[in-house]
Amino acid sequence: MTDRSWLELVDTIAQNGRLVERLNAEHRPDNAGRCRVCRVAGTSLHAAFPCKIAELAGDARAVIRSRGAARGPG
Ligand SMILES: [Zn+2]
Repeated sequence: MTDRSWLELVDTIAQNGRLVERLNAEHRPDNAGRCRVCRVAGTSLHAAFPCKIAELAGDARAVIRSRGAARGPG
């Protein structure tokens, strides 16, 4: 994935704050440091954390926060 398409994806996800919060809540590391939800394609292994979805949701949350700050308090 290119940086540009990543940013477009982050921007799209950031338009849905509830989705961002849900992704952040679901994609958490387990005791082994692997995502509780994501699997490595074609295997039963869980993906290393942070998985791509967690990175995406984290970036989207940062975008939402920066927009909130730009609007000022209230
Ligand atoms: Zn995940």
